Amino acid sequence: MATIGKCPYSNRCGGCDYQGVPYEEQLAIKQKTVRTLLGGFGKVEPILAAEHPEYYRNKVHGVFGRDRKGNVYTGIYEENSHRIVPVRGCMIEDQKATAILQTLSEMARQFKIHIYDEDRGTGLLRHALIRTAASTGEIMVVLVITDPIFPSKNNFVKELRRRHPEVTTVVLNINDRPTSMVLGERNIVLYGKGFIEDVLCGLRFRLSPSAFYQVNSEQTAVLYKQAIDAAALTGTERVIDAYCGIGTIGLCAAKGALEVIGVELNRDAVRDAVANARRNEIKNARFVCADAGDFMVNMAAEGETADVVILDPPRSGSTAAFIESVNKLRPAKVVYVSCDPNTLKRDLELFKKSGWKIRRIQPVDMFPYTKHVETVVGLQRTNT
Ligand code: SAH
Repeated sequence: MATIGKCPYSNRCGGCDYQGVPYEEQLAIKQKTVRTLLGGFGKVEPILAAEHPEYYRNKVHGVFGRDRKGNVYTGIYEENSHRIVPVRGCMIEDQKATAILQTLSEMARQFKIHIYDEDRGTGLLRHALIRTAASTGEIMVVLVITDPIFPSKNNFVKELRRRHPEVTTVVLNINDRPTSMVLGERNIVLYGKGFIEDVLCGLRFRLSPSAFYQVNSEQTAVLYKQAIDAAALTGTERVIDAYCGIGTIGLCAAKGALEVIGVELNRDAVRDAVANARRNEIKNARFVCADAGDFMVNMAAEGETADVVILDPPRSGSTAAFIESVNKLRPAKVVYVSCDPNTLKRDLELFKKSGWKIRRIQPVDMFPYTKHVETVVGLQRTNT
């Protein structure tokens, strides 16, 4: 398989671990990682490769900086530091987003917008976040600024749209805190709907600026198919979709289930999930904004049951309280979608100790050129 040339920023960026490594070799390394960590639980299926390993990221983030001559650039923070490495193009990011970042740098200078200086805490414009939806062509531009007053905002949007008519919504996000978090709490829609829509597994999903959405849309369809196949639904099940984001897995599973309950901590994501159910006319799904562990503990305490629990936690994995409550809810199946095989191993030990059988371990390559690997694990209850 052809591999394009090594990225010139790779040494300082730290985003890609496998620059210059042929794709087949990257897959072999990931397969070995998963086998080493999880092989003790059972056979590890061959990793599902990405058809397009480059330019896949649908979410692109640039930090604004300014050089001595006054030129504005966007870049990324150097690994483990707050120095900005100027980057003009990234081989794993959507190319339209790359072009928009470049335009935004030029426009920031043209419109004389003050660039945020982290050391002094001065300036207005901090970051740009661009999210693209390949299936619909919609693109969201989020400008992270320190103050809600953005000079010449209407002309700015007009010029951006003139140069990139593909931008369908522009949002200002206010973040005046000296934090490494990119987004602040408040969003102001400057243009369009304030969200974009993507089509995934035949359903239409809206996503807001701060809601989580899988960064590789093409491989997400592959991942979700594995998760839903592992659930082997017959139409009679109550399914819990824990750590559900904007409801994607649960809504994709809903037509095969009796009922879906999604739980998610991010309020905006839950709002999107509710809207997504309505948008797709799915009436057997509801969503709760809560900590997934607390929600499960409460459900178990109320004597509720579930037939299938799907969980897709962040890299830190799930919790002992969550897993104990799963045992109380007594589902026949658990489907664990994990983006970190280390925490997955820790959590699978807990499941195994309480009598769960690990039936299938399927790695999926969601993040080519990086060391990250996604794994879907199907578990079956064995105790009575
Ligand atoms: N299943 C979704 C999201 C997976 S990412 C998808 O495929 O798109 C993990 C999600 O867990 C994020 O949306 C994050 O906001 C959420 N999350 C993080 N900690 C949580 C917690 N303690 N309880 C519930 N949700 C949490």
